[in-house]
Amino acid sequence: MSLSPSIPHGMVRFTVIEEALSLLHSDPVRAEALCSAPEALPAHVRSSAALISADAAIKQGELDRAAAHLSGIGEVLGSGCPLWARLRRVRGQLALMRGDPGAALTDLHAAAEEARLYGDALTQGEALNLVAQVQHGRGNSQDALVTLREAQALFAQCGDVAAEIRAMCNQAQTLLAVGRTAEAVDLMHAALKLLGQSSTPLASELYVQSTLGLLHEQLARPAEAVGHFRRARDVAQQLGNHGAAATMALNAGEMARHLGHLEDAQDLLGHAVDTARSLRMERVLCGALCSLGAVFSELGRFEEAETLLSEGQVLSATVDSVDAALDAMLGRGRNRVRQGHMRAAATILYGALRLARQRQRSQVALDAHLLLAQASERQRPRVAVRHLNAARALEAELRSRALDEQARELTQEARLGSAQVEASHERQLRQVSEKARRQAEATVHEQMRALERGRLYDSLTSLPNRTLLNALLSKAAQGGAALMVVVIDLDRFGQINEVFGHAAGDAVLREVARRLQAAILARDTLGRLSSDEFGVVLTGPFTAAEVQRRLRWLQAAFDQEFAVAGRQVVVRAAFGAALYPDHGADAESLLRAAHSALADAREAAGPVVYSGPVSDRAVSLSVDSALSRALVRGEFSLHFQPLVSSGTREVVSAETLLRWEHPVLGRRSPAEFIPLLERSGDITAVGEWVLREACQAAVAWGGTRVAVNLSARQFVHGDLAGRVARVLYDSGLPGEQLELEITESLMMQSPERAASMLRTLRSTGVRVMLDDFGTGFSNLSYLHSFPLDGLKLDRSFVEAMGGGGRGGAIVSAVVGMASALGLDLVAEGVETEEQWAALRALGVPVLQGYLFGKPAPGWSPEVYRASLPEL
Ligand code: C2E
Ligand code: CA
Ligand code: CA
Repeated sequence: MSLSPSIPHGMVRFTVIEEALSLLHSDPVRAEALCSAPEALPAHVRSSAALISADAAIKQGELDRAAAHLSGIGEVLGSGCPLWARLRRVRGQLALMRGDPGAALTDLHAAAEEARLYGDALTQGEALNLVAQVQHGRGNSQDALVTLREAQALFAQCGDVAAEIRAMCNQAQTLLAVGRTAEAVDLMHAALKLLGQSSTPLASELYVQSTLGLLHEQLARPAEAVGHFRRARDVAQQLGNHGAAATMALNAGEMARHLGHLEDAQDLLGHAVDTARSLRMERVLCGALCSLGAVFSELGRFEEAETLLSEGQVLSATVDSVDAALDAMLGRGRNRVRQGHMRAAATILYGALRLARQRQRSQVALDAHLLLAQASERQRPRVAVRHLNAARALEAELRSRALDEQARELTQEARLGSAQVEASHERQLRQVSEKARRQAEATVHEQMRALERGRLYDSLTSLPNRTLLNALLSKAAQGGAALMVVVIDLDRFGQINEVFGHAAGDAVLREVARRLQAAILARDTLGRLSSDEFGVVLTGPFTAAEVQRRLRWLQAAFDQEFAVAGRQVVVRAAFGAALYPDHGADAESLLRAAHSALADAREAAGPVVYSGPVSDRAVSLSVDSALSRALVRGEFSLHFQPLVSSGTREVVSAETLLRWEHPVLGRRSPAEFIPLLERSGDITAVGEWVLREACQAAVAWGGTRVAVNLSARQFVHGDLAGRVARVLYDSGLPGEQLELEITESLMMQSPERAASMLRTLRSTGVRVMLDDFGTGFSNLSYLHSFPLDGLKLDRSFVEAMGGGGRGGAIVSAVVGMASALGLDLVAEGVETEEQWAALRALGVPVLQGYLFGKPAPGWSPEVYRASLPEL
């Protein structure tokens, strides 16, 4: 049957019209044509066509056109007509999209009720679907979920698979918003299975892909998220739904930006900006402008960035979004800091800080403080310290809030028996992660408080005093970069004071300060430690030659004579230096080392670099120097230890463990020599050797993965991802068969860099496990933000399981959490049958330990299988 507006309508029978209308549902273009047809059309046909057209217009984001179709229908329809329910549903949807949830709700409830009376399950379900959207928007997610389940059931009842998929996606998104990731994953699995049966496969795919994008975003898997969002964008474009395409382009672009794929991000966000602008989608436009601005800023195109971000900020007021406004302001501030326009940055950032405080956006306030610290670091260190302090306090607050939330979620997810057990789990988990962090932070806090109390600057020279220099040194040392601390002591300064008077002495000190300041770089810091003692913190990197060069610069400050009370006087000084991290891990031990070098320098002709107390020096020298030649002498070897499936004992992968045997010093423990390798920097070469050997070994294992430990130093220096890719290529091992084990401390050092490095690594298929889980810092909050594949629970928890200890409770909570976050879980150090049974019962999927196999040379899956007892 063909239907066109030119059919002589008098001849069309009523049933045919009904049939035709149902066809029109899948052909809104014809429906729209029908709307402009002669008045002769029966009223309900015209209304129906107008409704279909309005519906289609809404789907394409053309709200004005939709409104035009709707206006006028109300007069010809009235309550008690089957079309009435549909009209109110469409009107409700329009109100919702126009940002009037109150009006929307009135229409939608009426629509649902009317549809129920007429047995129109489809309209009833659609209305409920939208009601849920309002409920969710008002923070009432629990009700929204109930409503959505009802909608889903109605759709299933009338066999509308496409609508059913939509309801499922909406449920999944609601679950994601409240952090119930595991349930969302289950729902999406089910939705994917239905996809093939949808009558509108493309439209369903749009829903599914965009939801999967959100899901992966939440699971901190941006690479996957980009894929799904991009696909969603393409599908939306195919469907002619340009509004959705813009939104998806924005989502994909933001994920690409987080991945550091700036060119991709620029393309996607550019598309989002253009489309959103032409469709007047102000919210999307605002988000896209801010995000694209951030990309330009990262690309160093500062002025373009400022233009986009400013426009975004203006627009944020139009759409009345505090978060968008803050996003734009932070972006602008960061852009100015990058550009080096610190004053402009500070003005914007103080504005952002005020707004963030007013509207209680702690995370934004924290970011603003950090940026302000950066902006004032150079010119106003005192202000910088204040901002750092504020940031730290906020961070602690946020962390404890996140921890509370996760502990709550965790106890739910893990479905831990009685209320009493739950409470104790929560406490234990908190203790585990909080304790270590508290200890680390207490020291810094103490220093910061002292800073606030004491005077920070020396009044004579205006240099930072001992307290401030100490704090700046601490901060620098936490940054992990190579440093050199030099203590400079003036010779016979007392005599100058005696002979020429204190005023002359003061003048000499000021002149020394001036000359030393001129002898260091902008990024270095000079301070006055005591009356005739100065301290300098120099920033590396330092080779031996560089150390000498920088010391010579300092020495040169004393080459010229000093003018004292009209006379030319020679002033001499002694120099003691110490290097970070070689000679001390913190400010205190570094200064101690520098002072001990200074003591030697008083007898020496020139500056002295610390070399440790003599007795220690001899011993560590022999291990050190032996170690430095171990690689070329072929003294290293690899052992492998199996990781097995807890149910079947089947091997899953094998961990590579480095061994060193020296002809004289004998076999040394990795616990001793790995830190030495890290300190000397040799770990990079040795680590690469381990990686190469391990991959080569695994090629012969027929699919069994090999795990390799990474040290922080390998992670921080150079292009790790590139080196890994290279080794994989050379050995021919597929990326999926390599697993890297990293530790929390490594992620803590520079979280953003670490996260992006992990993402790059994982994009080659390589898996990343977090080693020694539970012994580090604020582990819980990191799990969400780091793209990890799984956790290796530290041996100490397995140990603590015996004898009714609380280890079991913790393991069980971690099992729940890992599964909720979609992470694999391995328990290490399984030594007894009892531990095995307990871990199996708790549901830990993979185990490692002496019980299943000790680390051994020449290991292979075949050898392992042959060693298994007959079952
Ligand atoms: P890890 O990564 O936690 O490695 C597991 C350690 O537990 C290994 O000690 C292993 O021998 C030991 N182990 C395994 N099962 C059991 C058990 O049932 N009971 C007990 N008591 N211990 C068990 P190992 O080989 O001494 O290595 C110590 C650490 O040295 C490793 O701890 C790792 O952090 C580091 N390491 C070893 N090889 C390398 C390497 O190639 N590169 C780097 N960066 N670090 C390495
Ligand atoms: Ca390990
Ligand atoms: Ca471990």
